[in-house]
Amino acid sequence: MARTPQAKRPRRNQHAPRARYRGWDTSDQDEIERRRLRATQEAIPVRPLDGGLFGAYLVGVSPGRQYRVEIRSLSEHINSCACPDYRVNGLGTCKHIEAVLAQLQKGPKRAYKAAAETGSPYVEIFLERRERPPRARVL
Ligand SMILES: [Zn+2]
Repeated sequence: MARTPQAKRPRRNQHAPRARYRGWDTSDQDEIERRRLRATQEAIPVRPLDGGLFGAYLVGVSPGRQYRVEIRSLSEHINSCACPDYRVNGLGTCKHIEAVLAQLQKGPKRAYKAAAETGSPYVEIFLERRERPPRARVL
C-alpha cells in the first residue's frame, strides 16, 4: 500500500518550559502562571484598538478566534476578555490578557512604569469576575 504524503505538523519545542499538569490540585496562582506561560509560548498577535496602554485590544490569530481584551490595570486582575476561558475560570485573567500585558512590558519601560503608578485614566463600571457571584465595580 502506497503511503500518501502527510502534511508536517509543527513540532513542539522540546526545550520550552511546559506547564505541569496537576489535575484539580492547583491553586489560582498556578493557573495564572499556566496562562502566562501559554501567552508567551504561543506568540499570540495583539492589536491595540485605543491609544495608550489602557483600553481595548484585539487579541488572536484569525477573525473567528480573536477576542476583545480591556486593560484596566497593569497589576490587579481586573482586566477582561471575551474568550470562553475568561468567562468561566474565575481568575480575572486568561492567556489573551497575559499576552497583552507581556507585550506592554516589552515596550518603553518609562511609559509602563508611569502607567502602572498612575493607573487607568478611564472611568468604568465593569464586572469583577474574581468574586462569586461576579459583582459590579467602579474604576
Ligand atoms: Zn481570553
